[in-house]
Amino acid sequence: MALLAWFDAGHRDLPWRRSGDPYAIWVSEIMAQQTRVETVIPYYERWLARFPTVADLAAASEDDVFALWQGLGYYSRARNLLRAAQVVMAEHAGALPRTAEALVTLPGVGRYTAGAIASIAFGEAAPLVDGNVTRVFARLFAIEDDVRATPTQKRLWAIAEALVPARRPGDHNQALMELGAVVCTPTSPACDACPVGDLCQGREHADRLPYKKPKKKPRPETRFAFEARSEEGDLLVGRNPSGTLLGGMWQYPMVEAAPESDAAAAFATLSGLDPASFRIDATADAVIHVFSHIRMTVTPVRVTLRAPVTVLDGYAEATLLSDEAFRDAGRATLTRKIARALAEIG
Ligand code: SF4
Repeated sequence: MALLAWFDAGHRDLPWRRSGDPYAIWVSEIMAQQTRVETVIPYYERWLARFPTVADLAAASEDDVFALWQGLGYYSRARNLLRAAQVVMAEHAGALPRTAEALVTLPGVGRYTAGAIASIAFGEAAPLVDGNVTRVFARLFAIEDDVRATPTQKRLWAIAEALVPARRPGDHNQALMELGAVVCTPTSPACDACPVGDLCQGREHADRLPYKKPKKKPRPETRFAFEARSEEGDLLVGRNPSGTLLGGMWQYPMVEAAPESDAAAAFATLSGLDPASFRIDATADAVIHVFSHIRMTVTPVRVTLRAPVTVLDGYAEATLLSDEAFRDAGRATLTRKIARALAEIG
């Protein structure tokens, strides 16, 4: 009760909190995964302007969706939103399922997102646990175990389930997340201003909770990325197969290679072209990009094509695009870093 009273007394004014629309809440929840709220807001507003309903989203192409998602990262979230919208149209008559149990069957909707939509949009007493709630519970209940470990996860969900009330479950869940975001923050929690401070068992050692066992370091990988142009100036791009890193996205064709290896030989293998059918023009400074599990060092190489390329080894599709069309297709952060490095060599 203290928590809800605190929430009612004033909370952050986020655009999706003003909306009772389950679709809008769903979009906001997917965007907010692994992304800061301040970053999400403009993306959310553009998305709702472009795809105001599930039906509008379901009718979109993957390229449209990636273009709007550009810069948010974790592009599989965008693809899953599109797929899930198509499932909602085909199997649920255009209306989002109303329970967490049914929502979790949609592509990209995990237990957390299902709990958020069901409780906030439909008033189901469904629990949820995200990073903020994990931190609050680990401190409130002095949980010293690794919060990423499965038994601890089970315990956190059991606590969430026991606490979620039948009345105003959505506000309760939002209040917990808000508490983690603005009071029980990762560093320097404001315990003196905490509405549940009297009940908190871990307050005295909040600085070491939640405990997370260190993750393995991302493995290093080196690649060439080719800015290969036809003699007319169009750019050769490859579409990643779905289910792979940056799946479904267009990018400069890349190939894994040791840093000291020969770029011409690597491009010949990738494109299937004879070395006489292209020319290596220049090499840019390497760029580094860290995915969750790979630390990628990429050397951009400029190439002029003297023969067409129709297939790229390891890619689902290969095509020539104008620079403008490539920009509009929705480019991952790594691709934009490569473009910047290439622009520096003129
Ligand atoms: Fe977090 Fe401090 Fe509140 Fe405990 S008292 S829940 S550590 S802000």
